[in-house]
Amino acid sequence: MSKHIIVLAIIVIIFINGCVSDEQQTKAEPLETTPEEEVDVIEPIPTKSSEPLEKNTQETQSETLTDSGDFKLVYDSISTTEYLGYEQIFKESGLFEEVVNELNDEIVLPFDVYVVFGECGTPNALYDPTSKQIKMCYELIDEIAFDFAEIAEIEEERGRGIVYTLLFIFYHELGHALINIHDLPATGREEDAVDQLSTIILLEADEKGEEAVLYASSWFLSRANKIDFDESVFADVHALDAQRFYNLACWVYGKNPQTSSYLVEDGYLPEERAERCEAEYTKISNSWDTLLEPYLK
Ligand SMILES: [Zn+2]
Repeated sequence: MSKHIIVLAIIVIIFINGCVSDEQQTKAEPLETTPEEEVDVIEPIPTKSSEPLEKNTQETQSETLTDSGDFKLVYDSISTTEYLGYEQIFKESGLFEEVVNELNDEIVLPFDVYVVFGECGTPNALYDPTSKQIKMCYELIDEIAFDFAEIAEIEEERGRGIVYTLLFIFYHELGHALINIHDLPATGREEDAVDQLSTIILLEADEKGEEAVLYASSWFLSRANKIDFDESVFADVHALDAQRFYNLACWVYGKNPQTSSYLVEDGYLPEERAERCEAEYTKISNSWDTLLEPYLK
């Protein structure tokens, strides 16, 4: 997963100037918990030279997979005029065209998978295996914009927060899609696994990745402060938003404890968790590397 984050600086500027108008902010609905699929993002494993058989097996498996599909970006027609501004910004920025092109350069698919921006009637993002769509709902984008109007004090931060959080959510849904399409094994909670993948993709992209993950984590933290703790929250397939915040902070710290030590020093990440984060990140990164290796070009 290479360099798409490089384009983000430009995209963020476009977003700030064009997308998050105050008018749109005031029309956003208050936060609601969406029960289904709520919001719901690679170092190679060393292969011992003395074990050629294992390597050969992997190569043989890769050769048998045929790349018969692509990710295809679609903008559905919009009936809510307030969302036209989002569509315009996404089209003009070319951000997701870039993301989709890079995924097509790297991932083997057995069929076309559509990345659809459209209205859903509820704030959501999901992968639908029946229609083979990663659906990014404008209602959710509007909600994120509303939330960052509260979180961020300056407009530049609002733009960054929206774009980065949206990318995190997209790669989270990409994880669901890849697990379904390639029948990837998992023994833990899938929602946690795809949070891991989204974080890894962003962190491995370039130096902007850390900022992106931390903006997404701040969004989870803002939501954590608004939750009513009834049993549905604890029964949900997702971890609590506060837990997702600490997980993301831990993995950012774990990837590079030296440069990210401020997360502990400034009190974002408790020392007790931080001690485990480097090993935790190495583990999840290697695990996803192993899972995806047969499906990378
Ligand atoms: Zn999910």
